[in-house]
Amino acid sequence: MKHYKLWSALIASIALFLAPLAQASGVKNHRPDNQALAAKYRPVLMERFLKYTTQDSQSDNDQDITPEQIETAKKLFAEIQTFGFATKLTEHYYIYVEIPSNVTHPTPVLGFSSHYDTTPDIAGKNIKANVIKKYDGQPIVLKNGHVLDFNTDPYLKQMVGKTIVTSDGTTMLSGDDKAGVSIMVTLLQTLKENPNIKHGKLQIVITPNEDVGRSADYIEETPYRPDLAFDFDGKVNGEVTVANFNAEKVIYRVKGVNGHQSHAAENGYRNAWKPACELGAICAKEEWLPNNSTGTQGYAELHHMNMVDGKMSEAELDFRLRSFKQSEIDAWKDYAQQKADSIAKKYDVQIERQVFKQYQNVAENIHPKAGALAQRACERAGVTPTFKTERDGTTASMLMLKLGRGAYTIFTGQQNAHNFTEWLSEEDMFKSYWVALNMIDEAAAMREPDQVATQARSHAEDYIRPGAR
Ligand SMILES: [Zn+2]
Repeated sequence: MKHYKLWSALIASIALFLAPLAQASGVKNHRPDNQALAAKYRPVLMERFLKYTTQDSQSDNDQDITPEQIETAKKLFAEIQTFGFATKLTEHYYIYVEIPSNVTHPTPVLGFSSHYDTTPDIAGKNIKANVIKKYDGQPIVLKNGHVLDFNTDPYLKQMVGKTIVTSDGTTMLSGDDKAGVSIMVTLLQTLKENPNIKHGKLQIVITPNEDVGRSADYIEETPYRPDLAFDFDGKVNGEVTVANFNAEKVIYRVKGVNGHQSHAAENGYRNAWKPACELGAICAKEEWLPNNSTGTQGYAELHHMNMVDGKMSEAELDFRLRSFKQSEIDAWKDYAQQKADSIAKKYDVQIERQVFKQYQNVAENIHPKAGALAQRACERAGVTPTFKTERDGTTASMLMLKLGRGAYTIFTGQQNAHNFTEWLSEEDMFKSYWVALNMIDEAAAMREPDQVATQARSHAEDYIRPGAR
């Protein structure tokens, strides 16, 4: 880490020294102008998006994978295979594409992700996209009484004169994340048809089951281990999500002794609920409640309590912990464990704990230059990036937990996801594609090996590529 800082400082000062020289000699250190190239693929991108909306791909909380997702994955795989890159469809229907570097210098491995499933929370079969060209600013009346207007959606004001896409009102639109998938596939097409584009090693993964919180479950079936990663599943133009909650679920199980309470003193009967309630109250302090948490402040919630096997002698407490800082969650766990130990002693019961990590803050291990790269890639597409934090989890945060490496989430133009009034800004989707294109040559120009691999922490050790250290 220290060496790395030293080197980057050194490289930065050399660059500062060289920049005026380059300008003086008329040599500009600029990246290729992607504007014309991006514009060429704009209609293709939109066509592809509209095609994908007709493909039902809803995930389901109670199924490993739905038949609709399997069909979608197979079609996408077949389409991507025509580009001729190394493409893999895994056992659990992850689509993975790898493109080797075509430059001679070392570059970080650049990764892009998106998801092809759509939410099961709202009608999503037989989607009929409604394309509105040159939007006139009037309220948009959809079937079933759904209306889109400036009151409910102020961002629409910026769409006057532009192209937007809605559903017909009987379903969602599925821009979440058909927009991201359209961007990925169009990017692959662009790379195939323009072999002159300079790029380092690229890894692209398109996952199932994101909308049921399981997009990273079988990621290890793919070799997706980028140094610099971006997830294409964000919303408004320019939005880049750079941090999110760490999330853990902690189960405490209070185990008493079964028997009859009338002879508890003699038969050792121990009801579990008094100690369970005491533990619940003491570990879910008022100041930690979700309703008292805003901004970057986390929370600890007693989510629910269960009676186990219908017995008074066994009680389960389910806590949910959310914080941008893992240290806060760890401090809560230390505190709760101390309380659990003393309550167990006081009431002569057993208290057992189980911890489940749910997702992780991507900021905990992000490539040090991810922000600067996103900034430049956006600016070159005429987009002003707004870096924001998310009080929730993202695909990137689920991948973070599994791979130990974070990714920023990039806007895609999808709006109002999981809603009958979901819509898409065609321009924002196009800008997102353009940003992705810019990211490719920004990464290729970095001329440095994968720094993050050497910084990856504990649980990520298994995933570090051989030879990377
Ligand atoms: Zn999504």
